[in-house]
Amino acid sequence: MGSLLEVEQVTVTFGGHRALDKAGLSAEAGKVTGLIGPNGAGKSTLFDVICGLRRPVTGRVTMNGRDVTRLGPARRAGHGMARTFQRLELFGRLSVRDNLLVAAELGRHRRDAAGIVDGLLDRLGLDEVADTAADDLPTGTGRLVEVGRAMAARPSVVLLDEPAAGLDHTETERFAALLRSLAADGVAVLLVEHDMGLVMNVCDQLYVLDLGAIISSGPPEVIRRDAAVLAAYLGE
Ligand code: ADP
Ligand code: MG
Repeated sequence: MGSLLEVEQVTVTFGGHRALDKAGLSAEAGKVTGLIGPNGAGKSTLFDVICGLRRPVTGRVTMNGRDVTRLGPARRAGHGMARTFQRLELFGRLSVRDNLLVAAELGRHRRDAAGIVDGLLDRLGLDEVADTAADDLPTGTGRLVEVGRAMAARPSVVLLDEPAAGLDHTETERFAALLRSLAADGVAVLLVEHDMGLVMNVCDQLYVLDLGAIISSGPPEVIRRDAAVLAAYLGE
């Protein structure tokens, strides 16, 4: 089976600095694919390239075999790509329900927006805070709403940038179950995350980025024993 998302040979430079050097990865439908690496490795920059926020010097992004490298973020979203950001980007004064509704109405199934939002509130356990303003939520709940906003567009590929930052242990476990259920729905989930427990637990496949280049890839049980990976982290 081909991969839903293919990223090949992506190079990005900032001034003279090469933030990404021929980096590539693929993400399959129904799988959680992890992207790990030390701070500054280029993970968020690679997400920017994948979702169309940054044009690479070289490289190609394809979804379902379609080359989307030249499409902007809105067009890629129209083809089923959704993304969350490392920093929460919720509408602070809007309620949880309205944050989800805005996202659903921008999505591919806007006619079903209200129904999609009701389903998400239930699935994410957010019913009790549906009418709470996003600004008044604890971090963990805000993270769930952020993921909910990505899900509201019913994406086929979802990019999550450190979605579990600031979550406590119980919230992280619930979050792991949510990621698994997203994959079980057939979504290709691409996850950037520092919590190695979560990464090892939920990912089917891992890519390791260091200084802009992919230095290793494989299933978690292989990656955790990879000497180059250990060196990249220990050298941080
Ligand atoms: P990560 O998400 O893995 O921590 P980033 O993708 O944020 O890494 O950053 C990769 C490298 O690119 C870092 O050296 C960072 O300082 C640099 N960088 C990221 N964004 C910019 C930018 N907009 N302008 C200049 N340098 C940047
Ligand atoms: Mg980052």
